[in-house]
Amino acid sequence: MTKTAIAVRDVAFRYGPTDPPALDGVSADVCAGSITAILGPNGSGKSTLLHVLLGLLAPECGEVHLFGRPLGEHSRREASRLLGLVPQVEHVPFDLSVFEYALLGRAPYLGLLDTPGPADRACAQSALDAAGIAALARRPVPTLSGGERQLAMVARALAQEPRVLLLDEPTSHLDLANVRRTLGVLQSLRADGRTIVLTTHDPNAAAAIADDVLLMRQGRVIGSGPTGSVMNSERLSATYGVPVEVMAVRGRPLVLNHVLDGAADQGA
Ligand code: ADP
Ligand code: MG
Repeated sequence: MTKTAIAVRDVAFRYGPTDPPALDGVSADVCAGSITAILGPNGSGKSTLLHVLLGLLAPECGEVHLFGRPLGEHSRREASRLLGLVPQVEHVPFDLSVFEYALLGRAPYLGLLDTPGPADRACAQSALDAAGIAALARRPVPTLSGGERQLAMVARALAQEPRVLLLDEPTSHLDLANVRRTLGVLQSLRADGRTIVLTTHDPNAAAAIADDVLLMRQGRVIGSGPTGSVMNSERLSATYGVPVEVMAVRGRPLVLNHVLDGAADQGA
């Protein structure tokens, strides 16, 4: 039997009392050791859901369970050892080296006045190895390319040794080679038994890597389950509000956005 890492039940959330719900009756299960993609158009509630999973936003109603226990019963410190976030954007305030930046991931294990010890440094080093950026250890973070910076954020989250890694739009600003590199790192983390949850607005990023997909639109889940069964032409066209075609290529869905066909129709 597969173990459930995260269980979400009937979660609703709104940012302000008069705002429409950003999450509206969301339920989902994330299997331990798998890659789950939260997929949907801009504004569908993906980042909001990620922040609810992290306990950074409190749902109006509903529950989140983490490894069988309600999220609220884990202390903040426990939760940060279970869940590591790779945010969509992060400002690095100082001229930290990549190694020092990864070392920040050890914070949940250190007391207020502790400095990181040899074990913490070893952990930061293996996080850089796992993210494939050991060669960049001494480089100042501000000098990194977008793809390298993304992997540095992955390394920092990994130094936290979380059981679940949550990534918000990890591929959205990357070129093809860096998308491949980042997804390759996530695949090797899964092979090591890590649980991965990522948000993406790009169906092909989800199709390339996810075992399971949670399809969202306007704060609701409109499909969930194994990637191949959730991602079909009708459902994705309805989700994105444009005609898309899903083909099977080498056993995985490939999504074609007929953007040029649409332009031609309008021009006619
Ligand atoms: P996604 O990550 O799928 O693009 P979000 O979770 O960021 O979507 O947003 C879901 C909805 O909540 C959107 O309608 C968005 O405008 C709204 N929203 C997001 N953040 C805030 C905020 N801080 N205050 C008010 N509304 C917000
Ligand atoms: Mg988002």
